[in-house]
Amino acid sequence: SPRVFSGVQPTGNLHLGNYLGAIRKFVALQESHDCLYCVVDLHAITAQLVHDDLPGQIRSITAAFLAAGIDPARHIVFNQSRVSGHAELAWIFNCVARIGWMNRMTQFKEKAGKDRENASLGLLAYPSLMAADILLYRATQVPVGDDQKQHLELTRDIAAKFNNDFSQKIAAAGLGVPMAMGDETVNGYFPITEPLIDGPATRVMSLKDGAKKMSKSDPSDLSRINLTDDAEAIARKIRKAKTDPDALPSELEGLAGRPEADNLVGIYAALAERPKADILAEFGGRQFSEFKPALVDLAVETLGPVTSEMRRLMADPGHIDAVLKDGGERAGAIAERTMKDVKQIIGLLDD
Ligand code: ATP
Ligand code: MG
Repeated sequence: SPRVFSGVQPTGNLHLGNYLGAIRKFVALQESHDCLYCVVDLHAITAQLVHDDLPGQIRSITAAFLAAGIDPARHIVFNQSRVSGHAELAWIFNCVARIGWMNRMTQFKEKAGKDRENASLGLLAYPSLMAADILLYRATQVPVGDDQKQHLELTRDIAAKFNNDFSQKIAAAGLGVPMAMGDETVNGYFPITEPLIDGPATRVMSLKDGAKKMSKSDPSDLSRINLTDDAEAIARKIRKAKTDPDALPSELEGLAGRPEADNLVGIYAALAERPKADILAEFGGRQFSEFKPALVDLAVETLGPVTSEMRRLMADPGHIDAVLKDGGERAGAIAERTMKDVKQIIGLLDD
């Protein structure tokens, strides 16, 4: 069956954007696909090298996966650094990808800021490692938020260039399948991965700035709702969320030019699993002073069970570590086969 891969960085507290844009989709895909869900710890050291408690952060993302309903027995849950193929294949992809491709990435520009010369080389090469994460398992589908669209296009470019450059060697090794590339057909080894960026919340915005996405690494904790926030914290953050002074519109067009209002209505719709138009039909004409408490109730009701299950799981780190170890072993077995093939294709002598 089609294979799904996706990753989350252990860079801080998981938030509502990660939950609605990624993790909730991970859960749904389990019914129809073979899934690998990865805590991408090697990515977490690209923007910031030293972390106060990286093991705790890795365990907390794992706990969130499990609490949200990912089943580590039927699928694979593991942390990236445990499987050495990620770093190995990333090196090879560093030699496939071009520097110009990396320089164009908006995530790099945003995260590197003004002092680009001083960003880590790892931050620049981040998309190569991400391509390796996905293609190490030859995953065909990758559920992500909208911010990862450009990186997934680059993953496709890397797979296409590898397939194209090695087409004859792939055929000679008997490892290819015919793939259409423009007018030509090449022997492809890596699939051209399809991004799954759909659903009602592909880009949840910061509660403090409707032009910025909600992020784990945003220094302001008020900018996001964390999965670990209690009811009181959720209420405070939504109460303080930026809005404009107008009442809610009753139709979708009325949200144009009102990014903060649009974001809060979008969050409500995604949590309720109802269309935005429906929410506006219900709340149109009402003030934020009425809408916000309704949003608080809904957020607390939806996230509460996930939060309490996360707390329960975090009390037993031994269990979480056992899940990651078992997942790492199963992921490692798939990765090993890919690396053998890749070495054979390139001509790197191996047993
Ligand atoms: P960081 O600030 O460290 O990059 P992040 O919040 O962007 O953290 P990631 O670990 O980089 O989280 O991304 C994990 C997944 O969550 C990805 O699929 C990403 O597209 C998705 N995601 C991140 N932020 C949002 C958001 N605001 N809305 C929807 N999806 C999001
Ligand atoms: Mg991110």
